[in-house]
Amino acid sequence: MKENSVTIPRWFDRHLHVRDGDMLRIVLPCTLKQRATGAIIMPNLADPISTIEKAKAYRDRITALLDGSDFVPCMTLYLTDHTDPEEVVRGFEEGVWRAVKLYMANQKGQGGTTGSAHGVKDLLGRYPVFEAMEKHKIPLLGHFEAVEEDVDEFDREIVSVDRDLKPILKSFPGLPVVFEHLTDGRAADFVAEVDHNIHATVTAHHLMINRNAMFWGGMNPGHYCKPVPKRETHRAKVRQYVTSGNRRFGAGTDSAPHDESVKSRCYGCAAGIFTALSAVELYTMVFDEDNAFEHLGPFLSENFLALYGMRVSSETMTIERQGWHLPESVSSQLIGTPTVKVFKGGADLPWKLAG
Ligand SMILES: [Zn+2]
Repeated sequence: MKENSVTIPRWFDRHLHVRDGDMLRIVLPCTLKQRATGAIIMPNLADPISTIEKAKAYRDRITALLDGSDFVPCMTLYLTDHTDPEEVVRGFEEGVWRAVKLYMANQKGQGGTTGSAHGVKDLLGRYPVFEAMEKHKIPLLGHFEAVEEDVDEFDREIVSVDRDLKPILKSFPGLPVVFEHLTDGRAADFVAEVDHNIHATVTAHHLMINRNAMFWGGMNPGHYCKPVPKRETHRAKVRQYVTSGNRRFGAGTDSAPHDESVKSRCYGCAAGIFTALSAVELYTMVFDEDNAFEHLGPFLSENFLALYGMRVSSETMTIERQGWHLPESVSSQLIGTPTVKVFKGGADLPWKLAG
């Protein structure tokens, strides 16, 4: 018989974009309503969070909107070609950030995703930073995708595994690494098998859609994100690792809001899928479909939390089999714009977070 409810510890979002300003005011409450104990806050603002001062100020702007919630915004440092190893260690030891985020950019300054143009162009030049991070056990959160124009879009992740990630692991055997928003089955095999303190975050949408979804009903910007969804065999492979309970994989939504106007424009639609409104329910659907409820709690709420300095919550949350209508978009009547389209918005979801 199918369960009608599942109770697990409150969860933690290991990869979240909350942006800034009006957008922050609109999207942060969505994650708070989802009862997350906290989240790894991505640093790719228009002005990247690349110093202690900026990270503190950004954390203050988020904290000011918590409205009494115990949510912990875990800040990250945006690594650039100019980041000083001493500042990395100082910010970590002072508790300003809990990890360092690696974006890469090519020589033209083109990055792999939103706000990555300031990313690292000279990876070898960053080895002194990795050395300091290894010494102090500061996690490296890597967006591992090759950014060169001659690398096929759908192979960007596996090319980066071979070319960027493997040499880093070899040179820094004690460096904790998180492979962000993993999508490629070959990368999943690598993370699952390699002898290293490495883990991977997986989004809800990459567990649910393959690359066909970007072309449903014509070009479909609602399903365009980075890394782009991959072919079905990769989606199935990644999902198998996740719902079979492999402890190296954990939930990181990569919920990435954009205003509708930049998301739906015909030329140059922005990459990113917004799932913060229903992330818990979406992940629950996946584990339900795979008859794997015993692994939902670890994936959402336990796996490798210690890496971020977080504990498994002693409070629980219950998700019930109860249909509800997911809104098409979120916005604020007070603020007016932006308006953010919701992944699967307009659909009826079969699971609802009860509290
Ligand atoms: Zn992201």
